[in-house]
Amino acid sequence: MSKKKNNGSPERDARSFRPESMMMSYGYKPELSEGAIKCPIFQTSTFVFQSAEEGKDFFEVAYGLREKRAGESPGLIYSRINNPDLEILEDRLTLWDNAEDAAVFESGMSAITTTMLEFLNPGDVLLHSSPVYGGTDHFIHHILPRFGIESISFVAGESSETILSRVKESGKADRVRFIHVETPANPTNTLIDIEACRKIGDQLGNGEKVYLAVDNTYLGPLWQHPLKHGADFSIYSATKYIGGHSDVIAGAVCGSSELIKRVKTFRTFLGNMAGPWTGWLLLRSLETLKVRMEQQCENAKTVANFLNVHPKVERVNYPGLITEKNQVAWEIFNKQCDAPGAMVSFDVVGGEKEAFTFLNSLQIIKLAVSLGSTESLAEHPYTMTHAGCDPEHNQKFGITEKLVRLSVGVENVDDLVWDISQALDQV
Ligand SMILES: *Cc1c(COP(=O)(O)O)cnc(C)c1O
Repeated sequence: MSKKKNNGSPERDARSFRPESMMMSYGYKPELSEGAIKCPIFQTSTFVFQSAEEGKDFFEVAYGLREKRAGESPGLIYSRINNPDLEILEDRLTLWDNAEDAAVFESGMSAITTTMLEFLNPGDVLLHSSPVYGGTDHFIHHILPRFGIESISFVAGESSETILSRVKESGKADRVRFIHVETPANPTNTLIDIEACRKIGDQLGNGEKVYLAVDNTYLGPLWQHPLKHGADFSIYSATKYIGGHSDVIAGAVCGSSELIKRVKTFRTFLGNMAGPWTGWLLLRSLETLKVRMEQQCENAKTVANFLNVHPKVERVNYPGLITEKNQVAWEIFNKQCDAPGAMVSFDVVGGEKEAFTFLNSLQIIKLAVSLGSTESLAEHPYTMTHAGCDPEHNQKFGITEKLVRLSVGVENVDDLVWDISQALDQV
C-alpha cells in the first residue's frame, strides 16, 4: 500500500546518491505492493480504515487537530487529500530542488494560482517580473484585481534600486506581500536575479514576510534551484520537462514543509490536486528526466549556434549566447544557472509573413505550443502564446511579429539543423 514519509527519514539523511539515481525507487516500498518493482496506479477514490480509531487518528492529523506523534505518517484517507502516486511523486520532486516538501497539481496554472491565492489577501500587492507566461499574466491582471489584489511589474535589467524606488513612489511598498518571478522569461530568455529579488522583498512589506516564488519551468528542476538563492517557492508546469512527452498536463510547487503544508491545505479545498494516473505518468517521466534534458540542451546549443550566424536570422535569444559584454546577464547566468537550457527564440529577418513561411516549411519540427518535450516544437509567440498580452508590452519586450520560439527535443541534431536550414531557405 503506502510508503514511509520522507521527512527526516534515515533513507534520505544517509544518502550520497544523486537525484537521478533515486528516481526509480525513492519513497516506494515494493513489499507494500505485492513486490511490484514499479509503483502501481492507485486508481481509487477512498481508502479502507482498519478500525474506527484509525480513521479518527488519520483525520486528526489531516485536519491539523493535533500534531503528528513521533514517527507517525499521515494515513491515507481520500484521494483529494492524499494518494500514494502523488505522495511518492512529491517526495521525488523534492530531491532535485533539495526542498523539504512538494505539492503536485493537475496543471502548472493551478500550482501558480493556488500558491498566490494562499499567500495573498484583499488589499495586498503582488510584485512580478515581466514578461511572464500568458496564463500567469492573465491571472495577475484580470483575476487577482477582482479579489482586491493589485500588481506592480518590473523588467529584466532594471536595477534593484530602480525597482525599490518605483515601488516606494507608488505608495504601495508596505502592502507588497508576494513577488513572482519568471526566469529565464518566456519566450525571450531574459534573466532575473533571484537573490536580488529576495533582498528587494526583505525591504518591502512593512516588516511582514514577503514571499518569493520563481516559475522554474524553463530551466528546472535540473539547471536552476531557486530555493538555494532565497526563493520560498520553486514552481513548475510539470507539463513541460518533468512530464516531457507532451501527453500530460500537471504542475508542482516545492518549498519548506511549513509553507507547502499551507499550499496543500488550500489545495484540498480547491480540489485541484493531480489524479493518480497523472501521478503515475510523472513518476515514469522522472526516471529519464536527466538524460532527456541533457540531450535537449546539447541539441539546443548546436541549434542556437547555427541560427546565430544565419543571414536570415536577426537575433537569437539563448542564455548560452550571453557574453561577458552583457555584464548583468552574464553575472546572473553564472551565479544562478547550471546550463543554458533547451529553449531558443529568434527574430527572422522580416515580419509575420516570413516567420509564418518558416513555421509552415518545417518538416520534422512540429508547429505547436508547449515546450520541454522529447519532440522539437516551434511556435509564433506574438500571435499564439502571447496573443492575449498587452500588445504594447509585447513590443517592448521584443515579442514581435518576427519572433519564433523553438523548444528543442531529443532528435538527431543534424536532422534538426537540416530542417531549420531548409525552412529558412523558403523565407
Ligand atoms: C506552460 C507554462 C505554464 C502553465 O502550465 P500548464 O501546465 O499549462 O498549466 C506556466 N509557466 C510557464 C513558464 C509555462 O511554460
